[in-house]
Amino acid sequence: MAKLTVEDLELKGKKVLMRVDFNVPLKEENGEVVVSNDNRIVAALPTIKYVLEQGGRAILFSHLGRIKSEDDKKGLSMKPVAQRLADLLGQPVTFVPATEGKELEDAVAALEDGQVLIFENTRFEDVVNGEEVKRESKNDPELGKYWASLGDVFVNDAFGTAHRAHASNAGIAANIAQTAAGFLMEKEIKFLGGAVENPERPFVAIIGGAKVSDKITIIENLLKKADKVIVGGGMAFTFDAANGKAIGNSLFEEDKVALAKQLIEEAGDKLVLPVDAVAADKFANDADTYIAEDGIKDGYMGLDAGPKSIELFKSVLADAKTVVWNGPMGVFEMPNFAKGTLAIGEELVKVTKENGATTIVGGGDSTAAVQQLGVADQLSHISTGGGASLEYLEGKTLPGIAAISEKD
Ligand code: AMP
Repeated sequence: MAKLTVEDLELKGKKVLMRVDFNVPLKEENGEVVVSNDNRIVAALPTIKYVLEQGGRAILFSHLGRIKSEDDKKGLSMKPVAQRLADLLGQPVTFVPATEGKELEDAVAALEDGQVLIFENTRFEDVVNGEEVKRESKNDPELGKYWASLGDVFVNDAFGTAHRAHASNAGIAANIAQTAAGFLMEKEIKFLGGAVENPERPFVAIIGGAKVSDKITIIENLLKKADKVIVGGGMAFTFDAANGKAIGNSLFEEDKVALAKQLIEEAGDKLVLPVDAVAADKFANDADTYIAEDGIKDGYMGLDAGPKSIELFKSVLADAKTVVWNGPMGVFEMPNFAKGTLAIGEELVKVTKENGATTIVGGGDSTAAVQQLGVADQLSHISTGGGASLEYLEGKTLPGIAAISEKD
């Protein structure tokens, strides 16, 4: 069944609770705290504008940073975010410096059709009277109920927190008639959910990065769903070791060797591992290097996919119709070890254009790589939620998404 979206809601004259992801970086400028990167605010504008154009009364809220003490609250107010939002929307935004109480309730009552307010950082509720009670982060049922009581309908557009049941997502949804996905959330569900649940085939997954332990569940899940799973980056060396190859000083997780062995046996040729590596004598861009084809000699470590691996990965991707990519193929932060990662980015652009493939990038490092290449806008979808996109790919149910109403 499909999820309800903001376009399915009757919004005119309604108090529309909107969970957005305004967890943006801040900086001090001339003694004032300001937003230093407004990408997330800009990304939320289409949903907010839509609600306002339909005559809704938007009640916005988000978390901002982590609040563990009263002191943490000082630098993490939503006020500068409200200011930037007003600039971007080109209309006034009422900022309410509270997360509950009369001031907030009066401001909500005073809202007219097409107007916006934003209340204070939802995580201020994590610390009450100096005590860390985590009302927001542990989904205190009373808090979700209270926030729900402020509105008529609920729009959740914060994918980045969808993997956690918080009062400001699941808590509100449990206490309100209708919860709908905003446009950003809808796009994440369409692409990530679509790839995992109903991919056009061949479906190729590419998983890289440093640690097997972080991504083992994703690899296991994607081996069930995808036609091929390419495993690259530092984590591939634990698989190489399981295959009895010499790995020198490369990244290695001994306690994952047995699992890697089991996956290799179960997956057969579905699992694609690098066949060579750029080996370096130290973890530095100016290291002495050689192309290691038959294991890595002592004193060296594998820091990038070698040329034969790049060709192999390209051949696996050649006829792909759906591709999901998470994690770099090497230490791409160092230019001399970025080739494997950049080659994947380039190949994704090619299959998007030539095969009409759906290409999805999730995770900070692979996103940074496609941005470095300047090709982010040539791929189908760049996921905004790090942890949330990983858990989606692991096949887990995300509480923030589960809480969105189904269409009738
Ligand atoms: P992750 O957070 O697990 O996606 O890992 C990303 C990090 O893995 C990046 O900072 C890469 O530099 C690092 N990485 C990728 N390949 C290797 C490798 N062969 N050796 C060491 N680190 C690596």
